[in-house]
Amino acid sequence: MKIIRSADDMQQLSRSIKSEGKTIGFVPTMGFLHEGHLQLVQKSVLSCDVTVMSIFVNPLQFGPGEDFERYPRDFKRDSELAEKHGVDYLFYPEVEELYPGELSVQLKAATRVNVLCGASRPGHFDGVVTVLTILFNLVMPDKSFFGQKDAQQVAVVQGLVSSFRIPVDIVPVETVRESDGLAKSSRNVYLSAHERNEAPIIYKALTKAKTAYLEHGIDEALQMINNEISKTSGLIDYAEIWSYPDLQQPVEKTGQIIIAAAVKFERARLIDNIIFTVEEESSCFGQ
Ligand code: AMP
Repeated sequence: MKIIRSADDMQQLSRSIKSEGKTIGFVPTMGFLHEGHLQLVQKSVLSCDVTVMSIFVNPLQFGPGEDFERYPRDFKRDSELAEKHGVDYLFYPEVEELYPGELSVQLKAATRVNVLCGASRPGHFDGVVTVLTILFNLVMPDKSFFGQKDAQQVAVVQGLVSSFRIPVDIVPVETVRESDGLAKSSRNVYLSAHERNEAPIIYKALTKAKTAYLEHGIDEALQMINNEISKTSGLIDYAEIWSYPDLQQPVEKTGQIIIAAAVKFERARLIDNIIFTVEEESSCFGQ
């Protein structure tokens, strides 16, 4: 595995890989790797000739008072894991390398961002689409792999590549969980032992909410999440139900639904969701 620090080197390398007729799979991350990230790598290795991973804690997607400074970092461990799992090139730029000066054009995510994390973290998705546009231009991937744990991110990035006709396939990958259901996350290290015991309730709440949604409707499902999370020491940042990936009111009788929650513990804000397809006969609407 080769480590690349310069944006120019990354772009040159991508050009030369493509000139050989090889396909590039790309896994953008903020590092502190866990099995969720490595699942994306595995999908890339299986379907592309060359796999590029980036590790970049992107200051633009953190708001004031968020955890940019103390976001967990361990490059040595990350590079060993990446190599072991088949990453061919690890792109690891400094902040100044990707943002050498003021951006002369700013990107703004315009749809799918007025709910969920887009509403609770203003500007977050502007930072995400900005860094990904830069990274896509450097890596020139055929496919880029994203976790469904960040389902709104998948929806926003699909909007980015379709609006700007960026020639990359966005491949969503199922959420990888601990054996007790907790979604794997770099931020889980910031849970106290007590909070770690409580945190699996988030996924249980979402699962129960799905049943409540299908049997009774939105209000009952949201009530279910509130009841379950109130058993923990965490505070609900949001619990919401939308159509997916449009993130609109789920008024249609059929289609995909997302139930998502964010919960703030003392030092970590955790997010999780479940996405499912409602068939007309099981729908609570139109009864
Ligand atoms: P991050 O380093 O948190 O920015 O995540 C990098 C990528 O890994 C994103 O596409 C995430 O959605 C994905 N990811 C993070 N956690 C998980 C997980 N538990 N399962 C699957 N993908 C994940």
